[in-house]
Formats: sequence, structure tokens, C-alpha cells
Amino acid sequence: MLMLAGGWTGSQLHEQLAGVNSKVKLAKQILNPVTDKNQAETFEIEAFKSQGKQQSQAFAEAAEVLHQFYIGGWILGGFIGLVFGGLIAGRIISRYQADYVPNKGTCFSCTRCVDYCPVKKA
Ligand code: SF4
Repeated sequence: MLMLAGGWTGSQLHEQLAGVNSKVKLAKQILNPVTDKNQAETFEIEAFKSQGKQQSQAFAEAAEVLHQFYIGGWILGGFIGLVFGGLIAGRIISRYQADYVPNKGTCFSCTRCVDYCPVKKA
């Protein structure tokens, strides 16, 4: 359940996570060009224009990167959910103990609880 929740959350963040990719940044800059006449075009836009590529090609590359981040978001979120689920399960599930184990926080190591003497047996 936590894996699914983590995977879904990770997939919903794929657009924000993909914002670090240069192809996605370029596509965003093409979609939202600088409208201020005092501000020059960004270096990325100038480089893109100098290549003579179509805008559709830049959008297709960005869409491919977004899809990869979507899949990666599911995987990363699922893994984080799995780790948290394992940590919680480790806290909740009590382990079977075959022998008496004293509380290490309160035990004085006085051995009064030991009714079996290994020296006498020998
Ligand atoms: S009787 Fe002594 S050794 Fe045994 S659990 Fe208590 S404090 Fe620890």
C-alpha cells in the first residue's frame, strides 16, 4: 500500500523533477518566451534557433524526458514507500524469541534470573 502511495506521489512530481533537465527547460522557455523587450533572449533559445531545429522536435524530446521522469517517479516513490513500509513493519511485528531475553535497558547483569548453571552441569 505504501509502495503504491509512494509511487503515485512520485509520479505526480515528475514535472517538477524533470524541470532540472535541459530539454524540458528549453521547451518551457519556448512555450513561455521572454516578452520584456529590455531583456535579451536566453542563451538556450539563441542556441536552439541557431541549430535550425523545429519547435516540435524540442517538444517531442521534452515529452520523452517527461515520460522517463514519470516512470522514474513511480520507481523512486515505490522504493521509498517500500523502505518506509519495511521500517514500520519492523517496529510493529514482534519477533519470536526462543529464550528469555532480559531488558537491556534495565538489566543489571546480576544473573539472578538464570536458573541454569553451565558449570554444575559439567
Ligand atoms: S535478574 Fe538480574 S540479570 Fe536477570 S534480568 Fe533481572 S537484572 Fe538482569
